[in-house]
Amino acid sequence: MARQTVADATGQKAAFLAGGGEMGARIRAYDWASTPLGPVEGWSQTLCTLVQIILSSAHPMLLVWGSERIVLYNDASLPMWGGIHPSGLGVRYLRDVLQEIRGDLGPLVERAFKGETVHLSNLPVTFNRHGYMEESTYSFSYTPVTRMDGTVEGLLLPIIETSGQVFAERKLRELNETLEQQVITRTAELDRAWQLSQELLAVASPKGVIEAVNPMWTAVLGWERHELVGQPFMDFTHPDDLEPTLDAFASIFERPLVTPYENRYRHKDGSYRWFGWTGTFENGKVYASGRHITVEREQAEVLRQSQKMEAVGQLTGGLAHDFNNLLAGISGSLEMMQTRIQQGRFNDVERYMTVAQGASKRAAALTHRLLAFSRRQTLDPKPTDVTRLAMGMQEMIQRTVGPGIPVEVVGATTTWPALVDPPQLENALLNLCINARDAMPDGGSITIETANKWMDERAARQHDIPEGQYLSLSVTDTGTGMPPEVIARVFEPFFTTKPIGEGTGLGLSMIYGFAQQSEGQVRIYSEVGQGTTVCIYLPRHYGMVEDETVAERIADLPRSKDGETVLIVDDEPSVRMLITDIVEDLGCAAIEAGDSATGLKVLRSDVRIDLLVTDVGLPGGMNGRQMADAARVVRPDLKVLFITGYAENAVLGAGKLPLGMAVLTKPFAMDQMAARIRSMIEGAKEQARRA
Ligand code: ADP
Ligand code: MG
Repeated sequence: MARQTVADATGQKAAFLAGGGEMGARIRAYDWASTPLGPVEGWSQTLCTLVQIILSSAHPMLLVWGSERIVLYNDASLPMWGGIHPSGLGVRYLRDVLQEIRGDLGPLVERAFKGETVHLSNLPVTFNRHGYMEESTYSFSYTPVTRMDGTVEGLLLPIIETSGQVFAERKLRELNETLEQQVITRTAELDRAWQLSQELLAVASPKGVIEAVNPMWTAVLGWERHELVGQPFMDFTHPDDLEPTLDAFASIFERPLVTPYENRYRHKDGSYRWFGWTGTFENGKVYASGRHITVEREQAEVLRQSQKMEAVGQLTGGLAHDFNNLLAGISGSLEMMQTRIQQGRFNDVERYMTVAQGASKRAAALTHRLLAFSRRQTLDPKPTDVTRLAMGMQEMIQRTVGPGIPVEVVGATTTWPALVDPPQLENALLNLCINARDAMPDGGSITIETANKWMDERAARQHDIPEGQYLSLSVTDTGTGMPPEVIARVFEPFFTTKPIGEGTGLGLSMIYGFAQQSEGQVRIYSEVGQGTTVCIYLPRHYGMVEDETVAERIADLPRSKDGETVLIVDDEPSVRMLITDIVEDLGCAAIEAGDSATGLKVLRSDVRIDLLVTDVGLPGGMNGRQMADAARVVRPDLKVLFITGYAENAVLGAGKLPLGMAVLTKPFAMDQMAARIRSMIEGAKEQARRA
């Protein structure tokens, strides 16, 4: 319909207006005769061509034509016309369009009509195109369309909307400005922190040259900034702290120093101050922060003193308590003996004697431990092959800790000999393994390791022992480990975390004293949940271990004419003495041993032994029964007489003892004992004759 109307109205000449979308239709339908442009048939060829071009273009374009500046535009430009469309078509550009959007553009339009191409970039225009007023930006050129005579017939306006780009740029600019502001604020904050920090802050080169310090340095150490910057920080470090400080500094390149490292720096007045340092290495610089802790350390010193006093108090209290009990046992027994002797009941005397002797023995053991702790025990250091010693104890230790905790002994065969008292070292090793066992209630493993250790000057300082060569003996467990506050106290006598009756708190204190007295050291490495290593360092012996074995000692032992020999193993010397008397009365030779380890060494040697008389409760890692069983591996016919208290019957498996083993329960009468020994020796002789 519209097409017919336009065709009628425009005739042949208006054929160029075919198509062109909405604006094509509107232009065709428009009553151009009522405008200064006149009816379409009268339009110039130039105008017709340009109208055809803008209608077929996908780019926003408009024409401002003729002396009255009449407006024509295309579909592509519609989005930017807003409320002005469709009333914008055919109206006067300057009066009806620009007035509404940007009246200040009028002079530019007139300049273009004088023949100048006027280009405008990112021109902001605010108008309503989506139902509200909004700002958009455009770039466009007023391009003059000139006649042959040079006069301007009209203007062509290609338009590009640049709102998206412009707003993006504006956003970016704003963002940049805020960022800049943030950087400024942050820098100011950092600067404030640098100026006001209570810690000593420093930036140093990787070589340790100070590059920047904050004012706190001057406040705490008295040095001015210029006296510090450019100097190696080591120049201000306490000479005794130099090497560990260098180590700490070197470690920063691998990982940030988080746990404060403590050392001393020289004040300008020559005195020293303590600091706790943390630091990182970033962007090629070392950043360090030091907290002034001189006062804290001096307080800490007071605390240490008071803890020491507490430990001494605990020691004295513990001792008094233990000795009191032992004294009660001894004096009570003496009183009872006196009464019984007055009453003529001599049989009872023996029993009280045993009680008194037991108590004395325990008192002696306690004294021994204390002497060990106070480093005043009598040590008999000998060149010792510690690896062999540890291996020799493996079986006994394994038996002590039980099958749930495998015990491994690791040691190079070429470990140096150490100068140490062997039985004391055995005792220490056993104690460490028992501690390890106690720390592994749910099982785990124990590794005993020996190694050669060369302590250079630094290591020696760290371990607080003279520089030189050492042999280390360490016991590692996979147990509970210890928190630092426990580690700090374990060497105190009577310090124990075990329930009353289970721990004496004397094991480690004794080991500490022993190690110190042996001119060695003991160190603990432990982490909660990770396990513990206790390491004993012993000075190297330059020379060979004299192979002074038990066999040689035994060679000197007395032998009976007939050759019968009795081995007596008891930790109580008076008991050994009594039995020796009996044995010698029988014309036999006696060999005495005070503990199971020594006893077993004799039993495993080739010395003749016709009878073993042994206590059941024995020091040295095995009870009498275990020792006897071990001996029978090499001496299957060995006769054994156990001496036992009632409580030990279970250990013995009494009642089902193998052939050739007998029991005598304590207390026993001398003649009873003599009769038993005689009959057993005779039995042995008889057996030998028949064999
Ligand atoms: P005790 O064994 O009688 O408690 P010690 O002097 O041998 O006395 O040990 C003191 C304390 O040290 C123990 O109570 C325990 O808290 C701790 N300790 C020692 N060895 C270990 C270990 N291997 N693992 C964990 N804690 C241990
Ligand atoms: Mg212990």
